[in-house]
Amino acid sequence: MAGETNQIGKVLRRGLRKRCPRCGEDPVFQRWHEVKPACTACGLEFQSRESNCWGFMYLSTAAITGIFFMVMLIYRPPSLFLGRTALFFLGLALLTASLPYRKSVALALDFLIDPDPKKPLSESGHPRQD
Ligand SMILES: [Zn+2]
Repeated sequence: MAGETNQIGKVLRRGLRKRCPRCGEDPVFQRWHEVKPACTACGLEFQSRESNCWGFMYLSTAAITGIFFMVMLIYRPPSLFLGRTALFFLGLALLTASLPYRKSVALALDFLIDPDPKKPLSESGHPRQD
């Protein structure tokens, strides 16, 4: 159980670092948020998993938007128009800046749900070479 929790944490940390969820060697993105076709170190396909990430991306966008709506309801700035405008652009900047991190974590979660059955992980987290 503890080993399984460690493995989940390791994969999620690799996702937060925008690295391959299986080996942690190769970056997931070739540009700012353009996913590479596959990991050059272990061969895990990234682009084929990208379509599985929409649910997480939708939910994380909704969660961030919800937090900003709550702040807009609770916080009363001296100028309501300026406060809401600033919060709108702050929210937009946060959503944009967090996009590659959220997508990479979504890829890591997809890997946890469906690791490539062709290349199971060894104890070290690297693909087996047998
Ligand atoms: Zn890899």
